Amino acid sequence: MPQYTLKQASALLQSKQISAVELAGEYLKAIAAHNPALNAYITLDEEKTLAEARAADARIAAGSATALTGVPIAYKDIFCQTGWRSACASKMLDNFVSPYTATVVQNLLDEGMVTLGRVNMDEFAMGSCNENSYYGATRNPWNTAHVPGGSSGGSAAAVAARLAPAALGSDTGGSIRQPASHCGITGLKPTYGTVSRFGMIAYASSLDQAGPMAQTAEDCAILLNTIAGFDERDSTSIERAKEDYTRDLNRPLKGLRIGLPKEYFADGADEGVQAALQNTIALLREQGAQTVEVSLPQTALSIPAYYVIASAEASTNLSRYDGVRYGHRAAQFANLDEMYSRSRAEGFGSEVKRRIMIGTYVLSHGYYDAYYLKAQKLRRLVAQDFQTAFEQCDLILAPAAPTAAPIIGSSSDPVQTYLSDIYTIAVNLAGLPALSLPAGFAANSLPIGAQLIGNHFTEARLLGAAHQIQLASDWHSQAPAL
Ligand code: GLN
Repeated sequence: MPQYTLKQASALLQSKQISAVELAGEYLKAIAAHNPALNAYITLDEEKTLAEARAADARIAAGSATALTGVPIAYKDIFCQTGWRSACASKMLDNFVSPYTATVVQNLLDEGMVTLGRVNMDEFAMGSCNENSYYGATRNPWNTAHVPGGSSGGSAAAVAARLAPAALGSDTGGSIRQPASHCGITGLKPTYGTVSRFGMIAYASSLDQAGPMAQTAEDCAILLNTIAGFDERDSTSIERAKEDYTRDLNRPLKGLRIGLPKEYFADGADEGVQAALQNTIALLREQGAQTVEVSLPQTALSIPAYYVIASAEASTNLSRYDGVRYGHRAAQFANLDEMYSRSRAEGFGSEVKRRIMIGTYVLSHGYYDAYYLKAQKLRRLVAQDFQTAFEQCDLILAPAAPTAAPIIGSSSDPVQTYLSDIYTIAVNLAGLPALSLPAGFAANSLPIGAQLIGNHFTEARLLGAAHQIQLASDWHSQAPAL
């Protein structure tokens, strides 16, 4: 089984110890052997993968390679990619082969990265367990009776199982950080507006951000350098000077002020999670960081605010799937109305329908002020909490999830599942960057992550702090036995 980090794979390619075709071949072999038990990849196309690898080898031979040329990567099924089925794990888009490519994917293709395939997710990125996929649940490589988390569960499982050195995910309310935590890998959700949303199938546009998922913070920094940047095709993309997100990797932690929000360290998280966080706190202190208690008093309000806003935006975004322009169309109908309603009834899964109904309700005349407008006000309060906290600290340490990965089939109560997003969704409401990194293991040997949250545009510092933790620990380098 290939065990390479992205950086190691890159070094092997550049020193010509391995070719891009050989490297892709190693991963394709591992995928063939282990994906049937995991269901992380939902679309593979060996010919396309090897063609990209051959092109990368030609570029390496010609001397025009970059650090990423020939390095394989997996894409969450939410990213449109020319010539690949881009289904967002929905029956609605099961027949959709994209005629264009998402900007973030194009950025990586331009560097010569090799597409291993498309990985599973909750349908339209709605969920926390990956069980809402039209293509069936992904299994956690640490214990296949458990979920990998969601919605980027396929991305997290593929990287954890070493079936890809890295993957792209997307995070609307925690979908990069929570599965990273559940699978023992590192995942970063950038500041809103840093990474283009063009070609990333929309769930809740004011919250959605793509981000890197890999074994290490260093690998995430390398990928962020390529995917971040202004894109005129995304109206909320931010025009800023290019940054080097690896610049703080070797910066010592001495003097760094870490805020510990008292609401997050109350009784919400289980014992294993608390213990893992205490280990991380000890590591940070050993390296000279200071900890300070901070408060995020509106934490509890972030769940209702998020589920109103995200559902409202989803109901609008998903109105485009009507069986006419693209997507699934019912085979039988008596008139136009019935064609719409049957196509949507057949094409969407139950969680997606639930969100569309909630969203349509909160946006409807007479309820708009009571729900949607109120939620927008709460959003502002939640964001303000973080600004107050960042007056006292540089970064915030928090759990990524209240527990390790649940057993498949145990998340049948939607409200209970929504409540488990308590540590991640406030970050999206506030548009902040945050990452999850491996921080230990629960009593049942499943991984647990710790979350670091920064103020807007502090990705370099966040990744640097995570890298320093990873230099002094080895949770991130442990892999499940398959
Ligand atoms: N679990 C959250 C939801 O279902 C977050 C999903 C996400 O970040 N895409 O909406």
